[in-house]
Amino acid sequence: MTNEPDVELAPRHPCVRCGTPILAAVTVPISDTEHSAGRRITATVCPTCDRHHPAPEVQGVIAYFTLNERITGDEIEGAGQVLSDWAQYVTTHPPTYTSTDLDDEIEAWERGEM
Ligand SMILES: [Zn+2]
Repeated sequence: MTNEPDVELAPRHPCVRCGTPILAAVTVPISDTEHSAGRRITATVCPTCDRHHPAPEVQGVIAYFTLNERITGDEIEGAGQVLSDWAQYVTTHPPTYTSTDLDDEIEAWERGEM
């Protein structure tokens, strides 16, 4: 298992909370003691749901994508710091929904049930 965060820009699935196209998704390994030691968890940034997110790391992602609506291969370099800060944040503050829930939602969406 890699410890590198897996960042996906403009994922093809919408926000599981509101259905808005999300800005980015990051999958990180977490060592959460409570229920998911050793698992990887996926978090997303939604421009609607996370607009008032308290974490500066999340706000940084939103701000970056607001300024750079279309990320090209070259520009992703500039996003690196923002995204790695966010990945670090997610590692220490896993989202309240689990990646299993998210996977289920994505599968349901892909089946056309959402
Ligand atoms: Zn949302």
